[in-house]
Amino acid sequence: MHELSRRGVLKATAATGAGAVILPGISAAEAPAASAAGKGPSEVKCKPAKLTGRIVRPDDAGYADASLGWDELFVHYPLVIVYAQNTQDVVNALTWARQHDVALRVRSGRHSLEGWSNVDNGIVIDVSELKSAHIDTHTHVATVGAGLTQLEAVTMLGKKDLAVTTGSEGTVGLSGATLGGGFGFLNRWLGMACDSLIGAEVVVASGAECAKVVKADLNHNSDLLWALRGAGNGNFGIVTSLTYKVTPLKSVAYVQATWNGLGDLHAVFDTWQRTAPIADNRLGSQLEVHRDKILLFAVLAKGTAAEAKKMLAPILSVGSPDVSTQVGNWGDVYAGFQIPTQADPANWKFFSQFTRKPFPKKAISLIGSFMQDAPSDASNFFTQSFGGAVRKSPRGGTAFTHRDAIFYSEPGAGWGTRGQAGSGDAITPQAQAWIAEFSQALRPYVNGAYVNVPNVGMQEWETAYWGSNFDRLREIKAKYDPYNVFKYEQSIPPATLHGHA
Ligand SMILES: Cc1cc2nc3c(=O)[nH]c(=O)nc-3n(C[C@H](O)[C@H](O)[C@H](O)COP(=O)(O)OP(=O)(O)OC[C@H]3O[C@@H](n4cnc5c(N)ncnc54)[C@H](O)[C@@H]3O)c2cc1C
Repeated sequence: MHELSRRGVLKATAATGAGAVILPGISAAEAPAASAAGKGPSEVKCKPAKLTGRIVRPDDAGYADASLGWDELFVHYPLVIVYAQNTQDVVNALTWARQHDVALRVRSGRHSLEGWSNVDNGIVIDVSELKSAHIDTHTHVATVGAGLTQLEAVTMLGKKDLAVTTGSEGTVGLSGATLGGGFGFLNRWLGMACDSLIGAEVVVASGAECAKVVKADLNHNSDLLWALRGAGNGNFGIVTSLTYKVTPLKSVAYVQATWNGLGDLHAVFDTWQRTAPIADNRLGSQLEVHRDKILLFAVLAKGTAAEAKKMLAPILSVGSPDVSTQVGNWGDVYAGFQIPTQADPANWKFFSQFTRKPFPKKAISLIGSFMQDAPSDASNFFTQSFGGAVRKSPRGGTAFTHRDAIFYSEPGAGWGTRGQAGSGDAITPQAQAWIAEFSQALRPYVNGAYVNVPNVGMQEWETAYWGSNFDRLREIKAKYDPYNVFKYEQSIPPATLHGHA
C-alpha cells in the first residue's frame, strides 16, 4: 500500500530535476487508505477510491499527445490523465485526487488559453470521451455529454434543424465555451450559450475526502446553475452533462467580405460598430483586422443572402470589398468555415475586452498602427457583435454579466509551428509585449474581460470577469466547494474556507 501526498510527489520530482515526472508506483488496482494529508478518521466518509476509465500515465505511448493543449505555449506534465467513460469514473477520479492530496484539473476541449486545464504532477480529469446526446425534437431540449466539441454539437443539432449559440471554432469544447458564457454568430438571436443552459449534471466534492453527483437546474440547486452560466469553468465541480433549450433553425445566410489593406479601416470599423450591435437580432457578425486586410463574417439566421446583404449594406458599401455569400443548413455552413488545427500557429496569446460605447477615431487609429506592427501574419484584432438577445438574462439569471456591451474584442498573436517545440521561441517575447502594449493602449475605451479568454496579468480580474456577481459566486463556491478543491490561478475562492472563520 502506498501513501502518496502532493508534497511527497513534489519532493520526489524536485530530486530529479525540473519537468521530470515521478510515478511512485501508483496503479489503479491499488487502493491506498484515505489517510493522506493528516485527515482525522471522523472525516473519512467514503471507501478508498481506484482510478477507472481510460488512464494515461507518463510511461504510456500516448502520454505526449494526451498532455498537449491547443495552445502549445503552455506545456505541462501531469501525473496521470483520466479519460472518463461515464460519471462514475469522474466520481472515482475526484475522490482519488482528494484522498491522495493531488492537484487536479478538469478538461474537455483543451482550448484553455492559459493552459489551466492541465497541471504538472497532478491529475487531469478529462471528460472529452463523454459523447452522449439525447435530442428531443418535440420539447426542443437537448442533453449532451460534456465531451462534445462545438463542431460535434452544431452538426448533431443541425441535422435536426435545431441550434444553440456556440463559438465559431469547431474544435473548442462545448463545455468550456458554455460554462464561461459562450458567444458566436447566433448570440444576438439566442443569447449567450450559457443563457440556453437549463440543466447540468455535476460531480462535486463531498465531505473531507469524497465526491458526489448533483443536478443543477431551475428546481434543484438553482444557485449552482446560475453560477455555471458564466463562471463554471473548473470552479465548482466537474460538469458531466449539459442540458440546453434548443431552437429550430432550418437555414442561415453566411456573408464574408474582404478589404485588402487597411486603407478603409476607419470607415469599415466605425460603420460596423454603429450598425452591427443594433441590427436585426438574427444578424451576428465578426470583424477581424489583420496586418494587411480586414475581414467581415456575418450570419443571418433564417434569412436569405439578399436580406443579409441589405442589412450589411452600410458596411459593404465602404470601399470595394470582395463579397461572397452562402445559404444552407447551419451545421453545413459552420463545418464549411472551419480551419484545420494543423494550419493554425502553435502558440497564441490574447487579451479580452468588452466595449460599451463606440470606439472614437483615436482608438481605431491605435488598432491600425498596432496591426501594422503585428508579430506575425496570423495575428489579428478580433471582434464579435453583441446587443440583441444578449441584453436579456434568461429565467434564473446568469453569472455572465457583460449584457450591455456593444461588442467584444481581443488582440490575438499567433506564432510558431505546431508539433515543433521551440519553433516560435524567437518571436515569443515580441508577441507577449505586443499583446500587453496593444491591450493597455485600448484600456480607456473598454470595460471588463471575458473569463474564457483570461487576462493573466490583470489586477482586478474578479470584477473584470463577473462585476458585482463575484461576491455571490464566492458564497456559492463556499457551499459547493468549501475545501477549495477546484483551485487554479484565477479560480473563485470560497467566501469562507472550511474550518476557517
Ligand atoms: C481558437 C479559439 C477560438 C475561440 N473562439 C471563441 C468564440 O468564438 N466564442 C467564445 O465564447 N469563446 C471562444 N474561445 C474561448 C473558449 O470559449 C475557451 O477557450 C473555452 O474555455 C475552451 O473550452 P475547452 O473545453 O475547449 O477547453 P479546456 O481547456 O478543456 O477547458 C477550459 C476551462 O474550462 C474548464 N472545464 C472544461 N470542461 C469542464 C467541465 N466539464 N466541467 C467543469 N469545468 C470544465 C477547464 O478546467 C478550464 O478551466 C475560443 C478559444 C480558442 C482557442
